[in-house]
Amino acid sequence: MDFSIPSKLQALLDRARTFVETELYPLEQPFFESGFNAVAEELREKRAKVKAQGMWLPQIAKEHGGLGLSLLEHGLFSAEIGRSPLGHYTFNCQAPDSGNMEILIQYGSPEQKAKYLEPLLAGDIRGCFGMTEPDYPGSNPVWMGTTAVKDGDDYVINGKKWWTTGGDGAAFCVVMTITDPTAPPHFRASQILVPTDTPGFIIETTTPFMGHRGEGWASHSEVRLDNCRVPQANLLRPEGAGFLIAQERLGPGRIHHCMRWIGVCERAFELMCKRAVDRKISPDRPLASRQFVQGWIAESRAEIDAARLMVLHAAWTIDQLGAKAARDQISLIKFTAANTMMRVVDRALQAHGGLGVTDYTPLAVFYRMERAARIYDGTDEVHKLSVAKRILRGYADKSLNI
Ligand SMILES: Cc1cc2nc3c(=O)[nH]c(=O)nc-3n(C[C@H](O)[C@H](O)[C@H](O)COP(=O)(O)OP(=O)(O)OC[C@H]3O[C@@H](n4cnc5c(N)ncnc54)[C@H](O)[C@@H]3O)c2cc1C
Repeated sequence: MDFSIPSKLQALLDRARTFVETELYPLEQPFFESGFNAVAEELREKRAKVKAQGMWLPQIAKEHGGLGLSLLEHGLFSAEIGRSPLGHYTFNCQAPDSGNMEILIQYGSPEQKAKYLEPLLAGDIRGCFGMTEPDYPGSNPVWMGTTAVKDGDDYVINGKKWWTTGGDGAAFCVVMTITDPTAPPHFRASQILVPTDTPGFIIETTTPFMGHRGEGWASHSEVRLDNCRVPQANLLRPEGAGFLIAQERLGPGRIHHCMRWIGVCERAFELMCKRAVDRKISPDRPLASRQFVQGWIAESRAEIDAARLMVLHAAWTIDQLGAKAARDQISLIKFTAANTMMRVVDRALQAHGGLGVTDYTPLAVFYRMERAARIYDGTDEVHKLSVAKRILRGYADKSLNI
């Protein structure tokens, strides 16, 4: 077992870290205080710099203009750029676009690729992904209300979506919708590309999220589809493959998220350690001299390292054997990394005292915005249940109803 990082990859990781620290950290305060649009123009310039420096689209194959990193390599890259909430967007590997790119590469028709994939890869447009619905449980995704009915050469779509991340300003939405209510549950739904300027695609509002509505990519839309008519050519083929395609995006997507969270952990950890040595609690003693704080630091280091190794191992398994073989690992890392992040950010925030709950550091923003990590891409409980059931089946007779 060799844990070393090849020198060429390490050099790329170092360059990414330096870029994030020097170019993106200074944009964080205006982003926190004034919103995404306040930094949108500067981010356009930073994205051009990333392209010029050969770090654009780390997760995408070279033939499509990316760096062609394996999932394991991209995991390491994600942890570097995840240190800033603006990191993934600037390198064009942000959710939900990274997932949309992957499914368009795999399932898009030549026309769909020309119209949606190429400008996405270039960073000229953004997309969004509409699966979750306000009136149905996202935890049971086969049960949904949105329908697409064939009419001539078109589909007519009706339904409601929410938590459509980045819907504000997106050029299109990948809408998950029932196309055959009589099919077995996992074959009822399809994914259809809906340009957001289609009549009947209505963004009703952005959802207030922990006190902020956000804007642009950093927001979540509530969408109504009201007799929204799109050509059948907009289907990601084949019809009924909506869940299969969703699974394709979720396996690698969870590695992306988990390693981004490891990046959040590392940033919070670094801030906690710096604060502990810089902050005096008496004229001759720093905060770092207190055992409470030493305990937080040792526990955080151990938990981050454990989570990091689990995520990298899951990425390695997907690279070597495919997402199906890593099913349990993906569930385990999803809730482990999310909860590790919550604990580490909480300790770092506590170590900062009153400063921790201001927006003068990224800690309060991490605390507020990343709480959702335990909810999206599968809630903690659903991941725990599914992995526990698979484990228990190995101990039980097939007839036992678990
Ligand atoms: C910040 C954020 C971004 C998101 N981005 C997107 C996006 O871009 N596109 C998109 O389509 N969706 C998105 N989502 C939606 C997300 O995927 C759903 O919120 C998630 O799947 C949970 O569904 P729900 O909210 O309907 O909760 P519910 O399904 O109603 O579940 C509520 C709670 O019930 C518990 N629970 C559920 N099932 C079980 C069970 N079987 N056993 C025990 N407990 C259970 C869990 O604790 C769960 O948290 C986003 C959500 C957030 C918060």
